[in-house]
Amino acid sequence: MLKGQVAVVTGGGRGIGRTIAQELAAQDAAVAVIGRTDASLQETVNSIRASGGTALHQACDVTDAAALRAALDAVGGELGPLTLLVNNAGIGSGGPLWEMDPDEWWRVMEVNLRGPLLATHAVLPGMLARGEGRIINVASYAGNSVGPGSSAYSTSKTALLRLTEGTAADVADAGLSAFAISPGFVWTDMGREYDQILRAQDPDYQGMDDDWVFPPEAAACLCSRLATGEADRLSGRMIHVRDDLDHML
Ligand code: NDP
Repeated sequence: MLKGQVAVVTGGGRGIGRTIAQELAAQDAAVAVIGRTDASLQETVNSIRASGGTALHQACDVTDAAALRAALDAVGGELGPLTLLVNNAGIGSGGPLWEMDPDEWWRVMEVNLRGPLLATHAVLPGMLARGEGRIINVASYAGNSVGPGSSAYSTSKTALLRLTEGTAADVADAGLSAFAISPGFVWTDMGREYDQILRAQDPDYQGMDDDWVFPPEAAACLCSRLATGEADRLSGRMIHVRDDLDHML
């Protein structure tokens, strides 16, 4: 489905990002994963190559503008012009506002909002010049509502939704598109951490409602379908893995 496409997945060393990278590669995209931890990125790359796919990794922090740009340039140099950027790297936040150091609170904005902004800013000139490219921002239902202890995370995801809408509006005339996706609740490191926070906060919490729990493969399949272009007319929208994409189209 994605032959000829070159995809970058940030936070592709584990969790949802790894599954997205593997799915895009399974659909024949050449894939680069970016993250902080060399060893886990290498594991993702090895798993893709073992299945016959094309993959490489670049280790960097998505909040480091110069390092991120250099990493994206290196990917372009090795795999060819980027056609898909998946801004997936993210961190959660735990605790009431007053217990968080403002710098710790702002760090969530740095990773979850500034990271996608920097990556988008770095790849757009090339995509605009070629008139081809898609950006998928991994948002969250938390961008639509906020509960106790989630002010930083929720604020970052709300802003990411607006960034997605603004990006889509800015690139529409050039034939590019941008989406936000919401994966539901996924049992990753972040998901387990959030589950622990809820258990500590609420003695009545019985665990995540099954209706909200999704396998990472569901988010990966959604990314892969968006990457084909079949849903380009939904550019600027947030799409939840539980949405019926066929019905939306
Ligand atoms: P994980 O905690 O399992 O993985 C986070 C990934 O982001 C890791 O690969 C990590 O890299 C990378 N990352 C974190 N900070 C940075 C940074 N500064 N620079 C580069 N890479 C970084 O999270 P999930 O897989 O669960 O989450 C992925 C995305 O999905 C996030 O944006 C999250 O907000 C979103 N999401 C998750 C949900 C869930 O229930 N799990 C629900 C809704 C949305 P490293 O290994 O190097 O630390």
